[in-house]
Amino acid sequence: MRRDAAHFIDGAFTRGATGKSWRNLCPTDGSFIGTVPEGGRAEIDAAVKAARAALDGPWGRMTVAQRTDMLSAVADEINRRFDDFLEAECLDTGKPMSLASHIDIPRGAANFKMFTDVAKTVSTECFPMATPDGTGALNYGLRRPRGVIAVISPWNLPLLLMTWKVGPALALGNTVVVKPSEETPLTATLLGEVMNAVGVPKGVYNVVHGLGPDSAGEFLTQHPGVNGITFTGETRTGEAIMKQAAHGIRPVSFELGGKNPALVFADCDMDKAIEGTMRSVFANCGQVCLGTERVYVERPIFDEFVARLKQGAEGLRLGRPEDPTTGIGPLISKEHQGKVLSYYAKAVEEGATVITGGGVPAMEGDLAEGSWVQPTIWTGLPDDASCVVEEIFGPCCHIRPFDTEEEAVRLANATPYGLAAAVWTENLSRAHRVAAKMDVGICWVNSWFLRDLRTAFGGAKASGIGREGGVHSLEFYTEITNVCVKL
Ligand code: NAD
Repeated sequence: MRRDAAHFIDGAFTRGATGKSWRNLCPTDGSFIGTVPEGGRAEIDAAVKAARAALDGPWGRMTVAQRTDMLSAVADEINRRFDDFLEAECLDTGKPMSLASHIDIPRGAANFKMFTDVAKTVSTECFPMATPDGTGALNYGLRRPRGVIAVISPWNLPLLLMTWKVGPALALGNTVVVKPSEETPLTATLLGEVMNAVGVPKGVYNVVHGLGPDSAGEFLTQHPGVNGITFTGETRTGEAIMKQAAHGIRPVSFELGGKNPALVFADCDMDKAIEGTMRSVFANCGQVCLGTERVYVERPIFDEFVARLKQGAEGLRLGRPEDPTTGIGPLISKEHQGKVLSYYAKAVEEGATVITGGGVPAMEGDLAEGSWVQPTIWTGLPDDASCVVEEIFGPCCHIRPFDTEEEAVRLANATPYGLAAAVWTENLSRAHRVAAKMDVGICWVNSWFLRDLRTAFGGAKASGIGREGGVHSLEFYTEITNVCVKL
């Protein structure tokens, strides 16, 4: 069934007035899903004005309880329409339904529930102070919504990462204008139906589709009516958005790229390390910001680890999202396939030993039109090779041996990125010691992608600015006024 996308502005679906659109293609088999309208300055302006009006109107006047009840109902409605969201997400991304039904859609709903709890318990500081005249004064912090928030989201976990920002923004009283990735327009559009179904006032949640530069993305981040920009995507795009945000000094919250290491020590539980690394390298076809692309393994277990990861990679079944035996889907697009394949070629040029994969798999029938690549493992690359240094965002990793803990830590941190790391060891002291030395936003020990939404989430170095999650989201989504009352 054909599915066209539409903007969602001021509570209504519209194709906009630019007359421009693009064809949304399914990465599994290249089939046509529907068209997506490209928003221009007028659509962005209308969405920002609607968001401002809602803020100054019914949304701004609601009590915290009314607002959070409504957002709880949004989560319930996503769960009620679970299959619609699942189908839309898997059409856009080609990811296995087994994955999206466990991660993407449940987390999309949970992001609303979680932040309603945060919003209900926001507290504030209070400092009584002495004054020279003896009467004293009272200082208290008043937290206010920041205002109209621009949400720019990527394609790898479309609903999950978009609601990770929309959830706290709305729970804390803001309104939003979302510019979803051009690759994945469907679930953001569906969420508009959910907002209307549960009675969220018009203008609170707006969606304008479009591209980045010289399109809806750039127009949104430059719009003077936007009070803050939260962005998840590539580090390079973050640099461009930061320049756009400089007009009018708008604050940013950035979750950016990574080149994440896994450190596997000889004293690890090998079965668990293999299982976790299989997921961290290949889940979502390697298109996870937190995924592992560099694996450092202590020399005594290096050969065994490489052999077992190879066996795991070669056992992954490539297939359609709805097939329960599918272990791995396609990449998001032909363009991204071209980028990943260029790294596969570069790895060979730079001297890699290809342990497995390295090319395009033979797919049957209409799947041959999809954007597939083989799960790939390399060894033997120099530390400065492009495939060891640059984020590839595909189902691939380089494995390199190390001899000492110090060497492993040095190699892990030798990158401009600092998003995530995974440490595999059964030695408790080593686990804590190494985790403390990782220059990253999140360090897993004997696990990967285990997430408690109350924790601080974000990246160090070129992997981001700021932290979101739990009470940390208050930093970006609220503004504090210190009220100083002379008694
Ligand atoms: P991307 O940077 O290409 O695009 C992300 C969004 O930015 C899209 O909506 C795009 O249209 C928009 N955009 C592009 N240029 C823009 C501009 N000049 N102004 C405004 N908007 C613009 O990223 P992607 O390819 O969609 O996603 C993959 C990247 O995202 C990877 O680098 C990955 O590591 C990163 N990522 C990070 C996290 C995290 O939490 N740190 C999570 C997921 C993905």
